[in-house]
Amino acid sequence: MARLIPAIVILGQGSLNTARQIQQLYPDALIYGLAERVEGADRVYAEFGATLRQLYQQDTPIIALCAAGIVIRTLAPLLLEKGAEPPVLAVAEDGSAVVPLLGGLGGVNLMAREIAAGLGVAAAITTSGELRFGTCLLNPPSGYALGDLELGKRFVSDLLGGESVRIEGAAPWLAQAKLPQDQQARLTIRVGSAEREAAANELLIYPRSVLIACNGKLTGADALRDALHQKTIAVQSLACLLAPDSDMANRTLHQAAAELGVPLRFSSAPGSVVELAQQAVPQLLPALSVSDDIAIAVASQPLDPEQIGRPRGRLAVIGLGPGAAELMVPAVKAELARANDILGYETYVRMAGPFRADQVMHCTDNREEMQRARHAFELAAQGRSVVVVSSGDPGVFAMAAAVLEALHESSDPAWHNVDLEMLPGVSASLATAAQAGAPLGHDFCVLSLSDNLKPWEIIEKRLDLASQADLALAFYNPISRSRPWQLGRALEIVRQHRTPQTPVVLGRDIGRPGQTLRVITLGELTPEQVDMRTMVLVGSSTTCVFPRAEGGEWVYTPRWYGQKP
Ligand code: SAH
Repeated sequence: MARLIPAIVILGQGSLNTARQIQQLYPDALIYGLAERVEGADRVYAEFGATLRQLYQQDTPIIALCAAGIVIRTLAPLLLEKGAEPPVLAVAEDGSAVVPLLGGLGGVNLMAREIAAGLGVAAAITTSGELRFGTCLLNPPSGYALGDLELGKRFVSDLLGGESVRIEGAAPWLAQAKLPQDQQARLTIRVGSAEREAAANELLIYPRSVLIACNGKLTGADALRDALHQKTIAVQSLACLLAPDSDMANRTLHQAAAELGVPLRFSSAPGSVVELAQQAVPQLLPALSVSDDIAIAVASQPLDPEQIGRPRGRLAVIGLGPGAAELMVPAVKAELARANDILGYETYVRMAGPFRADQVMHCTDNREEMQRARHAFELAAQGRSVVVVSSGDPGVFAMAAAVLEALHESSDPAWHNVDLEMLPGVSASLATAAQAGAPLGHDFCVLSLSDNLKPWEIIEKRLDLASQADLALAFYNPISRSRPWQLGRALEIVRQHRTPQTPVVLGRDIGRPGQTLRVITLGELTPEQVDMRTMVLVGSSTTCVFPRAEGGEWVYTPRWYGQKP
């Protein structure tokens, strides 16, 4: 099973360096920083206790850069309630100590050793089995899976009680462990991929050495379980699924892999599934054909799925929101963490960062949308995980449409096979409206005033009809140096249908440093008050304004129309 992504939790700016060092070891992990104490964290939290408890309850491994005591007191109320624990570690904020606290069976000692090695210190391991045998039998290294945990616990306690043990099968890591071995021992550790019931006094450990080659005719995970059973191979030994490139977008394959908890890889090798397996991993023992669509191959060693074929590429078109980290949706943050390549207009790529050294930034000019979209598909078609960034929402005058246009125009199956997803963001009109109150609280119309990509007559016509229809209006791209007169003309049209008292909201750099919000009237509005970083919201005939206690005004458009119901 894939390991869960840890959360790195810090309380002060002084811990950020150590946190980033740890993040190098777990590239998908996010750093959680306390609001107003930490700048530059991936996520901001307001309350330490609530945050830590929530992570723990969601089974997220926790690396807390603070005193062990604080972590213990915070999680204490939850300890009795919960069966399985995620790994929880306290790390000194200067990185000088790594203390595994909870989650002995969830791999906390392994994590402690990894982190300690990364920081160049020794881990504070206190687990007796680990200390005595130099390894935790119940948490084998990647490439091996434990048969049954409850049986395993009894087994280890017998070992600790002084019994000796016999090892059958090959597991180099066990050979290095300081186990009290004896060929006559009652206790046996059996390492192998065969399917079997554990006998008394037996600990079963499965090497992940089995590959199944299959294709898009697969009916589901059960067919794979049946195939393994038919060849008496343990499902725990399955390392990965391999399928032909042509079936890359097949949903059943992806679902089966997810259900079995193994990666799904692809290869372009032509021919039968047997040949597919053989060509992708030449050192496999001859593959066993189960049917025309399923072949099983067993290797003498655990397999590294990363070395087999290639993954399905991914392209996510994401919205950063207006700028503030709190307004970025969690799915977007997770996507940025897993990305190999980040493409976009330089300002937005910088806004999406910071990125790790292994992530490649491709910054381009704002106008090269189609070129950027094609570049993104080229990278994703190679099996990379690619992100195209937009500000606000990617579907609002931004990259999502260009990406789909590029795909629509392409006949390259590799592009169509890419795992493409759009992840939404808070658009500038909505972020601005929220700060002003609810000016878009009733029907409204979103328009870009830029005539770069559409004729000006269309814009005039839409402005005229939308104003006539008494819709509140949100103007994106209201003005620029190359489009100096358009806003003035647009306002002339709106004024034909709206009174000078109509409320207007101007939001500039909303959610970014130096943001400003102004509430004026249509009569007062002049193009000089607006630039290309401004959102212009024009109220309808029902939009109201009233003073707010802190100063300034609330603006809202009621949900009812005409007469109050
Ligand atoms: N996809 C973006 C819009 C891109 S068009 C979104 O959904 O928000 C660019 C225009 O959006 C700018 O000219 C400006 O009118 C508006 N805009 C973008 N970010 C803004 C911000 N933080 N504050 C105010 N307006 C913004």
